[in-house]
Amino acid sequence: PPDGVELGRCSWMFLHTIAAYYPETPSQDQQTDMRQFIHLFSKIYPCQECAEHMQLRLKVSPPATENRIQFSQWMCNLHNDVNVRLGKPIFDCSRVDERWLDGWKD
Ligand code: FAD
Repeated sequence: PPDGVELGRCSWMFLHTIAAYYPETPSQDQQTDMRQFIHLFSKIYPCQECAEHMQLRLKVSPPATENRIQFSQWMCNLHNDVNVRLGKPIFDCSRVDERWLDGWKD
């Protein structure tokens, strides 16, 4: 199976970067595309435990695709749920642009 740590880091980079560059005022089509992408991502993520948790989480909290800020915060909260489950520190979601749009050294 894939290396879960490396796969996780790369996947979060991809997901948070997608959120950081999501439109400020997305069209209905763009919103539908993003909701479908997240749904499909949760079905194909090649870590079964992770994928199952994500699918359950999507039922409780569907992607907030209204605009860039809402979606970035939604993604941050999704990641924080996983952080809590894995005993990792909570990330301060007010710093999500600093980390993933403007960028800092990790
Ligand atoms: P990561 O959690 O990979 O984070 C990478 C960087 O993102 C951090 O260094 C930090 O700068 C930044 N960051 C951290 N939290 C946030 C946040 N809330 N918002 C924005 N940026 C943040 N692993 C399991 O063992 N079990 C699972 O069930 C599991 N489920 C996963 C589900 C998904 C959808 C994904 C993408 C990954 C999952 N993983 C799971 C992998 C796990 O989340 C980590 O990626 C992996 O453990 C490596 O952790 P890390 O400490 O290197 O940092």
